[in-house]
Amino acid sequence: MVKLSCNNYGFECDFTVEGEVENVLKEFGKHTDEEHGIDYSKEALMQFILRKS
Ligand SMILES: [Zn+2]
Repeated sequence: MVKLSCNNYGFECDFTVEGEVENVLKEFGKHTDEEHGIDYSKEALMQFILRKS
């Protein structure tokens, strides 16, 4: 299980997604793209997860 929260990455936003890595990458990527206009690559999102753990 992994967890990513927008407010950990400089967004004033309370979006959080938690669960399986694949799902978190997909959901967080979709959210940042649609809500914040930032299209993080899967690799970039993976780095967020790796740096946290
Ligand atoms: Zn957000």
